[in-house]
Amino acid sequence: MKCTLCKRKIEISFLNKIKGTYVKVKGKLVPVCSDCQKRYGDELKNVLKV
Ligand SMILES: [Zn+2]
Repeated sequence: MKCTLCKRKIEISFLNKIKGTYVKVKGKLVPVCSDCQKRYGDELKNVLKV
């Protein structure tokens, strides 16, 4: 699985949890890594809509 923003690989921990988050964009869940999550914070949804 790759981060939608930086295209780096997102690690998956036990129980299939990703090191990051999923953001809903236009009804679709897209994966974002924890670095981008930290970097963009509340702006995440705005950045992904581009
Ligand atoms: Zn990322």
